[in-house]
Amino acid sequence: MVKSEAVHKSFGHVEVLKGIDLEVKTGEVFCIVGPSGSGKSTFLRCINHLEKINAGRLYVDGTLVGYREKGGRLYELRDREVAAQRRDIGMVFQRFNLFPHMTAVENVMEAPVQVKRTPRSEARRRATELLDRVGLADKVDSYPAQLSGGQQQRVAIARALAMDPKLMLFDEPTSALDPELVGEVLDVMKALARDGMTMVVVTHEMGFAREVGDSLVFMDGGVVVESGDPKDVLGNPQHERTKSFLSKVL
Ligand code: ADP
Ligand code: MG
Repeated sequence: MVKSEAVHKSFGHVEVLKGIDLEVKTGEVFCIVGPSGSGKSTFLRCINHLEKINAGRLYVDGTLVGYREKGGRLYELRDREVAAQRRDIGMVFQRFNLFPHMTAVENVMEAPVQVKRTPRSEARRRATELLDRVGLADKVDSYPAQLSGGQQQRVAIARALAMDPKLMLFDEPTSALDPELVGEVLDVMKALARDGMTMVVVTHEMGFAREVGDSLVFMDGGVVVESGDPKDVLGNPQHERTKSFLSKVL
C-alpha cells in the first residue's frame, strides 16, 4: 500500500529525511516510533501531499505520489490530480481540528458533500453510521466544545473514514489527550485494524504497537534505524539508539 524508496526531504539546508526505505503491506498496522524531531510527522505529511519530497520515490497503492514518470523523467501532477490522490488517504492529527461551528455529524459529512458531491441526506445517513461505529451515536448533534478530547478525536477518525480511504495515517492521535481518554481512541483504532484497514500509526503507545502492530520501524535523525515485528523490536532492540529511546519511554 505504501512503498518508500530512498525518500529525502529537506527544509532549506536542513535534511530531515535522509533516505527512508520501507514498505507497508495492504491491511497491516504499521507503527512508526522514535524521538521528537526524528522526521516521523514529515514522513506522514509526504505520503499525504502536505510536503513534497526532494529525492527518492514514494508510492501509494502502486501509484507514484505527486508525480508522473514519463521517459525516465518526473513531472509534477496538477492540483486536480493531487486532490484525487489525497482523497484515498485519511489522516488523523494529534490535535483534532474539527470545525467548531459544526456539529459532529456536520463535521463528518462535510468532505463527502463538498468534495464528492454526495447528496446531503445520504451523507448524513453515512456520517451517522460512522459516528455509531466510533461509539458516538448519542453525540451526533453535539458541537466539538461539548465533547471531551477523546470524543473529538473519535469524530476526527469518523470524519477521515467518511471519504472511504484505502489508507489511514495517524500522527500521535492520543498524545494530546488526558490519560483516561487514551483507551477509547485506541479501542476505535483497534476495531478499525480488525476490519482490515491499512494504517500507518506514529505513536508513543508501545502497548498498542506491541498488541496491534504488524510491523514497526524505529526512526532517529531522519533514517530508519531498525525495523521488524513490533514484539521483536520493542522486546529485543538491536541498536544502541533504539535501546536508549525505549528505556526512556517504556
Ligand atoms: P517528529 O514528528 O519525529 O517529531 P518532524 O517531522 O515534526 O519530527 O520534524 C523533523 C525536523 O524537521 C525537526 O527538526 C523540525 O523542526 C523540522 N521541520 C519540520 N517541519 C518543518 C518546516 N515546515 N520547516 C522547517 N523545518 C521543519
Ligand atoms: Mg511529529
